[in-house]
Formats: sequence, structure tokens, C-alpha cells
Amino acid sequence: MAIEELIRRYEAGGGHLAKANAEGLAVPPALHTVVLTCMDSRLDVFALFGLEMGDVHVLRNAGGVVTDDVIRSLTISQRKLATREILLMQHTGCGLGTFTDDDFSEELANEVGMRPPWRTHAFRDPIVSVRRDMAQLRHDPFLLPGTRVRGFVVDIVTFDLEEVFVEQGAPSVLRTPVHGRPAVEIAHEGPEKQTGAQGRGADFSAPSQIRTAAAGG
Ligand code: ZN
Repeated sequence: MAIEELIRRYEAGGGHLAKANAEGLAVPPALHTVVLTCMDSRLDVFALFGLEMGDVHVLRNAGGVVTDDVIRSLTISQRKLATREILLMQHTGCGLGTFTDDDFSEELANEVGMRPPWRTHAFRDPIVSVRRDMAQLRHDPFLLPGTRVRGFVVDIVTFDLEEVFVEQGAPSVLRTPVHGRPAVEIAHEGPEKQTGAQGRGADFSAPSQIRTAAAGG
């Protein structure tokens, strides 16, 4: 039984490790950023962006799509925990690309006798999906004015990161993955590590940092 296996791992040291990892961290994320992405079990968000505990809020759901509940979490994250930027990332080979919303709904209706009140947000092209979700975030009345949003599609095989822009036709830059330590980790090694929250946000999200990382790969 999988749940019992997880409890066993907790008892075997998971609990102690989690406690140690959380020690001294402030509740507001140090980078004042939310990462919204898919629940896909192959996506290691912390590895991909050189994250450490306490850096960001990570919101995950099927697809990494913008739903009412994502807006709920983003709004609380912004208003109560001071986040100001959103990195949205969906991926190739996503389960949400394997069916249509109508088919899924129909299947459920045939099986349980009623359609679900929610939509699956199924998509064929993750780039189109990211673009639409970014547009939706941009126009959401509950998010703070001036919220920075950048959207990406990651290739689930090569882990190349492609930026998506709301304006159709704008150039999309294919970013090759970094082999070895990401450049952003340099920012984690300063003396500010002990004090925690201050100073890391701006550097991390600066495009020049990401370009530096891409150039090295
Ligand atoms: Zn997915």
C-alpha cells in the first residue's frame, strides 16, 4: 500500500529532514514569486529553477492551468504573503493533451449520470494554453496591478525551456537546458542566506540571469 509506504518513509527520517529544511524560513517566499505548473511526476521544479526551500510558492494542478482555485491561491499569495511575480510553465507530453474537454465530460456523464461542473482545461498545444492562461492572469481583477507574469513550455524529454508571449507572433526563444549547476545558484551563496528573505528576488527574475544560464548549456 503506497500510503503506508509514505508513512514509513516519514518515520525513517522524512519528518526530521523536512523539519531541518524549514528551519529559520520566513513564511513569505524569499523570491516573492509563484511558480504555477503541472502536477506531472517527472517535473522537478526545484531542480529546474535552482530553487531552495522558502524561495517560492509552487502551485501545481493537472496541466498547470489557471483555474478559479489557482486565482484563489494567487490572490492569497499576493495579498497575504507578498508575492509579486508569476512564472507559469506547462509542458509537452502533458496528459491534458490526450483528450478533449467534451469527450472527458461525456465519458464522466455516461459513467456517473451527470456532467462535472468544472472544465478539464484540456489542450492540444501547450504554447496556446500558456498564452491563453497568461492573458487570463493579465486581466484577472483580483491580482495586483503590475504583477509580472512570464510563461514557458518545457520539453519533457530535453527540458529545453521555451518562452511564450501573449502577443501572437512575438519571437519565442528556445532555451537550452543547463548541464551542471544553474547560474542562479550563485545568488544563493551570499551572506544573505543566513538572514533569509532579503535581496534574492530581483536578481533571480532578471532576464539577464536566465540568458546567462542558457548560454552556458
Ligand atoms: Zn502535465
